[in-house]
Amino acid sequence: MEPKADWFPHGEREPRAVLQRIVPRIRKVVSAAENPSVNVIARRTRSPFKVLVSTVISARTKEDVTMEASRRLFARAKSARDIASMREREIADCIYPAGFYRSKAKTIRALARMILTDYGGNVPDRMEELLTLPGVGRKTANLVLTAGFGKPGICVDTHVHRISNRLGVVRTANPTETEFALRRILPRRYWIEINGLLVKFGRSVCTPLSPFCSTCTISDVCAQTGVTRMR
Ligand code: SF4
Repeated sequence: MEPKADWFPHGEREPRAVLQRIVPRIRKVVSAAENPSVNVIARRTRSPFKVLVSTVISARTKEDVTMEASRRLFARAKSARDIASMREREIADCIYPAGFYRSKAKTIRALARMILTDYGGNVPDRMEELLTLPGVGRKTANLVLTAGFGKPGICVDTHVHRISNRLGVVRTANPTETEFALRRILPRRYWIEINGLLVKFGRSVCTPLSPFCSTCTISDVCAQTGVTRMR
């Protein structure tokens, strides 16, 4: 299949209208797919602190490894106070073999200590405060807000960034630009769920290297921007 011409910005189709049409369809497509590990942990634990820590563990780490590493660490330590009292080495042992486990252990301990000293042991629930924590950027902060607190936010990871640009609803150079573009065009009722939906869609259909465009149920509204190989 030949990639479609550059539709951006969708001619008469407003990006907002495109998003409104595709979200329900993506929901159906991914309904049976496994949820990302951090979302599973959020639902099981209802703990913003555990969401924050498991998000740190999940970077460049497979889902099953994130789940197991988080389970081991949370079996030892249930709160910021518990983790702050652990040695880096002990945290590293718990989260091994997560990618970069030594530097993540350092970050997790620093996070816990700052939450204890500056926020009374509770993870803050405002973006500006979350961004003061060590190792926390907008992606992590948004995931803590949405999955941890159920507050509005748009967590833009590599899947959300890639798919939004392929669809042609945004034209952005990095995830931060994508987040701010989506804040303008994505109906607020989809903010919390969009990350989980596009992560699952990006793993199963709109894959990074060679997406499954020939069977994709949203191909009629997709600009396929930048797609050079497809299945
Ligand atoms: S799989 Fe292809 S048609 Fe579907 S969203 Fe991705 S780029 Fe668009």
